[in-house]
Amino acid sequence: MRGERVAGVLPFGRTVRYPPPMEWDMAVRTDRGLRRARNEDTPLARPDLQLFAVADGMGGHAGGDRASQTAIATLAASFGAGSGDCGSREVATRLRAAFAAANQAILVAAEEDPANHGMGTTLTALCALPDDTTVIGHVGDSRAYRLRDGALEQLTTDHTWVQQQVDEGQLTEAQARDHPYSSMLTRVLGQEDYEAADIVMADARPRDRFLLCSDGLSGMMDDEAIRSILAQPLPAADVADQLVDAANERGGFDNITVIVLVDG
Ligand code: CA
Repeated sequence: MRGERVAGVLPFGRTVRYPPPMEWDMAVRTDRGLRRARNEDTPLARPDLQLFAVADGMGGHAGGDRASQTAIATLAASFGAGSGDCGSREVATRLRAAFAAANQAILVAAEEDPANHGMGTTLTALCALPDDTTVIGHVGDSRAYRLRDGALEQLTTDHTWVQQQVDEGQLTEAQARDHPYSSMLTRVLGQEDYEAADIVMADARPRDRFLLCSDGLSGMMDDEAIRSILAQPLPAADVADQLVDAANERGGFDNITVIVLVDG
């Protein structure tokens, strides 16, 4: 099964005042998986802003879709309306502000429609800068990884109950992945008591590969399984297809979204 292909550029945004896109090979896939009736994940690929993101929504009725779509639309609009300054500190500030705006937009949308009450979403967003830095904003359990010289590194820390248990030495990584509470989130967008997004800075070298994904991938595959696919010397499109296929072959219990970025 192939991941549903998504248009690389969504129809919002504004005048581009950024340096020309870097020569990164990129692929975006989002797939309903095999068990869920809907796809509540929303990806974003805006090469003009060098901004890539994954949101994984949750909530009754259409709340999950609405939350992830609202987060992505607000992120792109807010970040895109910024100064265009590409310093990593400025970009981090703009990302934090865009996450806060997304949180607020979800709260407003939930207020307007009782059916969406309590909806929320994860959001993990990566901005690639011309100075070979990436700035990552993060809330929830979608993930950013970097593959370098064949080794996979998870750049984000999940905001989950099981991750807290791992940090405290109560669970191993493998136990956390298989735990009945594995998807219980401690932080999402759509919360009244919103806490500013985590910001992670990571450098990018030629041939590094970055992966953004929802837990429909990372919950079905351990890091070694992800690494072995990502490390193949294949174009981003082939790697992205293989990742989605592998998650579905393992059961496809959840919506699967992957963004693969290969530094040229
Ligand atoms: Ca999910």
